[in-house]
Amino acid sequence: EEAGEEDAGPQKEVTVAIIKPDAVQAGHVEDIIQRVKDAGFEILAQEERMLTEEEAREFYSHKADEEFFDELVAFMASGPSHVLVLSKGDDAGAEVIDEWRKIIGPFDSTVAKEEAPDSLRAQYGTDKSMNALHGSDSHEMATRELAFFFPNFQIPKSEAKPAEKRLQRT
Ligand code: UDP
Repeated sequence: EEAGEEDAGPQKEVTVAIIKPDAVQAGHVEDIIQRVKDAGFEILAQEERMLTEEEAREFYSHKADEEFFDELVAFMASGPSHVLVLSKGDDAGAEVIDEWRKIIGPFDSTVAKEEAPDSLRAQYGTDKSMNALHGSDSHEMATRELAFFFPNFQIPKSEAKPAEKRLQRT
């Protein structure tokens, strides 16, 4: 009596993390990846990626009206970034987006040093522009950013499985 309908379970929630050019240039990639693992995130994909100015402009197109946009684009295209796709937990991991943003801390690294000294931006960032890390700020942005960096990536299904048909040795 198989169920005739699709058994496509929910996909895992994922977020896109970026170790930005300042932190890559300063040699912090390994230390930051260790922090990612220590905090219980799974790394589903990663690559070093040098953004062109055109790509940086596209990635941050929702910031195009900000006065800091040109500076931000030049910064993001100033050297290689290290891009990661993160998930968390064996359920759908819906909290991964907020948890990653909590761990990176406030966007202004000087504020982070005061208010969240354990955060990654406090430890590896410089100011409100060169702040070492990025995290998607919503499910919609994570989906968009995933498609931008890893267009062929298939988000895994949540691992929550029905408890059935366990093999038994007799
Ligand atoms: N940024 C900047 N100057 C500002 C605010 C932001 O250069 O006054 C940069 C900074 O690198 C930040 C990015 O623009 O990470 C995107 O800004 P957003 O407000 O989306 O912050 P985030 O989501 O990265 O915390």
